[in-house]
Amino acid sequence: MSNKTYDVAVIGGGFFGCEIALHFHERGYKTVIFEKESDLFKRASFINQARVHNGYHYPRSLLTALRSRVNYPAFVRDYREAIYDSFKQYYAVANQPSKVTAVQYRRFCERIGAPLSEAPADIRKLFNSDLIEEVFETEECAFDGNKLRDLTKKKLKKSKIEVRLGTEVELIKSAGKEGILVRFKTGGQEGTLEANSVLNCTYSQINVLNARSGLPTIPLKHELTETVLVKVPRQIEDIGITVMCGSFFSTMPFPARSCHSLTHVRYTPHETWYDKPGKQPKNAHAYLDGSNPRTSFSYMVSDAKRYLSVVSDFKYIESLWEVKTVLPQSEHSDSRPILFVTDHGIKGYICIMGGKIDNIYDALDELDVYYDSKKKNGKKKAH
Ligand SMILES: Cc1cc2nc3c(=O)[nH]c(=O)nc-3n(C[C@H](O)[C@H](O)[C@H](O)COP(=O)(O)OP(=O)(O)OC[C@H]3O[C@@H](n4cnc5c(N)ncnc54)[C@H](O)[C@@H]3O)c2cc1C
Repeated sequence: MSNKTYDVAVIGGGFFGCEIALHFHERGYKTVIFEKESDLFKRASFINQARVHNGYHYPRSLLTALRSRVNYPAFVRDYREAIYDSFKQYYAVANQPSKVTAVQYRRFCERIGAPLSEAPADIRKLFNSDLIEEVFETEECAFDGNKLRDLTKKKLKKSKIEVRLGTEVELIKSAGKEGILVRFKTGGQEGTLEANSVLNCTYSQINVLNARSGLPTIPLKHELTETVLVKVPRQIEDIGITVMCGSFFSTMPFPARSCHSLTHVRYTPHETWYDKPGKQPKNAHAYLDGSNPRTSFSYMVSDAKRYLSVVSDFKYIESLWEVKTVLPQSEHSDSRPILFVTDHGIKGYICIMGGKIDNIYDALDELDVYYDSKKKNGKKKAH
């Protein structure tokens, strides 16, 4: 295959990789995207809870809550076509062993400026009042993963950015002073190209590529997760419910399949592991493909129905399995900062991971700061 040269090579055709490629293209950089699957958005950017976070989820991380409050309106504006907001989102605060009380939760929402009101009586009576202290109505929507992918594809087509589907990047290596060599495989055929910058946007696979390229492992936490898709009874078809704060559950619309998701803090993660420096990282996708996990739907229902009896009538549709990746420091606070590591072992090689979909704005800001300072330094050297 021919050995072309690009300004930027983006590895990973999920939401982050595509948006980052578009961002570079708008700045006039010749950009290429590599995606190992047969289509874009086949992985975490489709298999997730579809919540556009507006801060309510993060009473234990004020910074993540505040960043969500800033990014939420921007995301709703920029991805309007993919937004699903024909439902009401309720957050219920459990009694013991919740990590926050209703008073604390109300105060937290005031601090982050998130609209909150008492849920109407017909909603409150859905809950077991012995176990639920208070139910709040909030302002939070969902996104449709199919529509988000289609919107992204439309933008990519218009931009004429080269997208190489079914193409797995095997490794990268320094190609002299300014360039990085990217070695990839399409079908059985190997190829290489060169780029000035390479962005690793492969989410759970970030360290797999680093290890293959002989580069250091970045500490990350992974969870093999199960998101159950369910048909809910008519009375809660137009609502989403999240019980806070700790080992509870959530059920909310999953617009891409016109149903609801059911997730549980205890039963959604089936397995947890860590990428640590000096340890060979597990190939999360290969591991998931080779495993045959059994659904925890019945456990989720057994626990959740104690708080919300209507859960007993949920009808199982299917389980979506994906590896969820977060920074290890998120473990206790449930925060969702982005991973942004520049010049990781090779000048111009950047690893980026957004802990949630709206964090794209934080990632693009960081990229702008990085490239602006690079440009300034370049000018200084030239003088
Ligand atoms: C179960 C779950 C629930 C979640 N819930 C929410 C939520 O409700 N709200 C929210 O905002 N966020 C949520 N998230 C987080 C959100 O899904 C992610 O932050 C986001 O999708 C990450 O996008 P990405 O493009 O980095 O990753 P991905 O969409 O996984 O894209 C990475 C791409 O890289 C490709 N790739 C990997 N290795 C290679 C290689 N060597 N060569 C070429 N291609 C490669 C993969 O095939 C994949 O398509 C959730 C995540 C999970 C897993």
